Amino acid sequence: MTDRYVVIGNPIVHSKSPQIHARFAQQTGEDIAYDRLLAPLDGFEASVRDFIAGGGCGANVTVPFKLEAFALADELSRRAQAVGAVNTLKFSGGRIYGDNTDGVGLVRDIVTNAGVAVAGSRVLLLGAGGAARGVILPLLEQQPERIVIANRTLSKADELVAQFAQGDSPLSAARFGDLHDRFDIVINATSASLSAELPPVPASAFSSATFAYDMMYGAAPTVFLQMAAAHGAQVRDGLGMLVEQAAESFLIWRGVRPDTLPVYQWLREQL
Ligand code: NDP
Repeated sequence: MTDRYVVIGNPIVHSKSPQIHARFAQQTGEDIAYDRLLAPLDGFEASVRDFIAGGGCGANVTVPFKLEAFALADELSRRAQAVGAVNTLKFSGGRIYGDNTDGVGLVRDIVTNAGVAVAGSRVLLLGAGGAARGVILPLLEQQPERIVIANRTLSKADELVAQFAQGDSPLSAARFGDLHDRFDIVINATSASLSAELPPVPASAFSSATFAYDMMYGAAPTVFLQMAAAHGAQVRDGLGMLVEQAAESFLIWRGVRPDTLPVYQWLREQL
């Protein structure tokens, strides 16, 4: 019997996950069906339990339910515990296992796909919301020289440093206005790009040796990537992160890691 998976969110109609997982399944020969599931804003848990009762095997979770998915899980991965949010659920033996694959998806896209080393590099992380929180641990595991978290609201960046910095940590917080150094990697994890705004990062952060990454993706480069490119930086948007976090979920569910490049190239053509 075909194993069933869904991506749960509200709204959900825009999600590309069904197309991505259909291609992963085709490529690996795994017999799965993957659909969108619109949960009412006050009905996440009921929707999940209904899906499990109907024989569902796993789910991806997106906005605004990642915190509720964290609370619902009976068992959590270390990285889900660190982030406090879950984007991947696996249902087995009457138990709910929760994981978070966003951060590892970003790091794989930067290190493996773009070929940019995080190890030993100076990283500037813009933003201190859910997306930023999710990538700090996987970035730290790469052993960068330093990670500066810059956020409009400094207290939120301070909170992340307090949570993730242990001992002699490379992690620190800053206001945008206090940034004067050049960085090897600049990651935009703010939601500014959604409204075509630019986070107030100074031009001095970029050089021709900088790699700039925007977690947002689209047919055209974001204003952030346009600015970074204008200062000579190599740029990349978040489409690869989307595909890599999906591949990691697929691995958790099916035990096989799909080849992401053809799926990434196909999705790029659809934008
Ligand atoms: P949150 O709402 O949790 O956080 C938003 C962050 O953006 C805050 O740090 C906020 O600062 C900052 N911000 C918002 N507007 C501006 C602005 N105009 N200038 C400077 N800073 C600003 O959002 P998320 O962390 O959940 O999402 C952030 C982005 O990451 C989204 O664009 C989302 O699409 C993307 N994303 C991409 C993924 C992928 O697979 N490619 C996966 C997950 C997320 P303050 O604290 O001061 O309000």
